Amino acid sequence: MPELAELLEGGPPVAQPVPTGRDSGRRLWAHLGATGVLRGIYREGLPERGVIPDRLRDLVVQTEEEEGTGPLLSVCVQAATVLPLLAEAGRREPALAEVSRRMLDGTSVVALAATDTGPGSDLTALTTHTDTTDAGTVLRGTKRWITNAVHADLLLVLARRRPGPHFTNFTWYLVPADDPRVEVEAASGPYFTGSGAGHVHLDGVPVLADVPVGGAGRGLALFARHITVERLAGGLWAVAACRRALADTRDRLADRGLWEQPAIRQRLAAAVVRTRQLETLVEALGPAIAAEHDHTGAALVKAAAGETADHVLDVCAHLFGADGFAAAGMQHRRAEAALFGIAGGSTETVLASVADQAQALLSRHRGAQS
Ligand SMILES: Cc1cc2nc3c(=O)[nH]c(=O)nc-3n(C[C@H](O)[C@H](O)[C@H](O)COP(=O)(O)OP(=O)(O)OC[C@H]3O[C@@H](n4cnc5c(N)ncnc54)[C@H](O)[C@@H]3O)c2cc1C
Repeated sequence: MPELAELLEGGPPVAQPVPTGRDSGRRLWAHLGATGVLRGIYREGLPERGVIPDRLRDLVVQTEEEEGTGPLLSVCVQAATVLPLLAEAGRREPALAEVSRRMLDGTSVVALAATDTGPGSDLTALTTHTDTTDAGTVLRGTKRWITNAVHADLLLVLARRRPGPHFTNFTWYLVPADDPRVEVEAASGPYFTGSGAGHVHLDGVPVLADVPVGGAGRGLALFARHITVERLAGGLWAVAACRRALADTRDRLADRGLWEQPAIRQRLAAAVVRTRQLETLVEALGPAIAAEHDHTGAALVKAAAGETADHVLDVCAHLFGADGFAAAGMQHRRAEAALFGIAGGSTETVLASVADQAQALLSRHRGAQS
């Protein structure tokens, strides 16, 4: 990725392209850390100060094009959620500050393990829990579909500390991924290569430094705060994926002499409109999400990203005809783009948040018009 650092002001030039492969998410992370590109996406280079939306967009756009879905997924989860969360918690806990420093250098990969064996849409139902033993606090349970699981150094695990659904019954803990009581199984299937996605079994694993991350009982509060920036990254990414898919589709249709067909032009144009609508929404709401962790803005972006990506990639895949089914073809891209409506919370889950704020959102809109 030779031009990446040049795109992001302040980053030193990159000498070599990033090697690709099954663990390319990890290699990309190391590369972004070593070249200072990662540091460049945060205000004053500090993850706890929040991301700079334009820098995050530049990183996402270039990685989407050059590295593909798996490595970008690996980077987004860490850069938008894990690293800012750990850096914030590190203000009070030196062991956590050291972990976030290593992440920022690209020398440590940390997976975010929230989704449990039960429905990920209801985190308050999760069963992974803490036990207090002579060796201190240990974790037991199973996490599934965890990005970076197979190549992480540490796992940031959301665990239950008390029975029941109350908001304060959950806490984050770090555990070493190479502990013998951690078992990681790579996710099967042809999608998200390089993301390190996998399922994690925890069988009495002692937590790092015997400390909760960010305070006991603050698990869901911290998740709600930091997932907002991952949703912003997802919105920026969905725009990039839709734009590139539409450009590739238009070029192909032109090459095949189909671009002058009115029905085809209309269909593609409507998808361009949807993409530009999403882009406008992300640009309008991005600054507040980045600076204030605006929860409603992030829900609006994620709902729009999921629905827009599904629609646009479906149009592109269809217009590719039979060739869409070639290896890594547009049908494959369409399937991977479905992640925008699932990973990090399904579209229905974020629409529930939008519905909760519908009255406020609509009255604000009326006020703006008057
Ligand atoms: C590529 C990928 C990467 C991921 N990476 C991570 C990661 O790094 N860390 C992590 O913790 N998790 C990760 N996940 C898991 C992800 O966050 C969950 O898949 C997501 O929260 C949905 O949970 P679920 O899959 O258990 O679906 P379920 O909760 O079983 O829901 C299935 C479907 O039911 C519907 N549904 C559910 N609840 C409702 C409702 N209340 N109202 C209406 N419809 C509803 C939705 O259509 C939903 O898609 C990843 C997932 C994917 C696909």
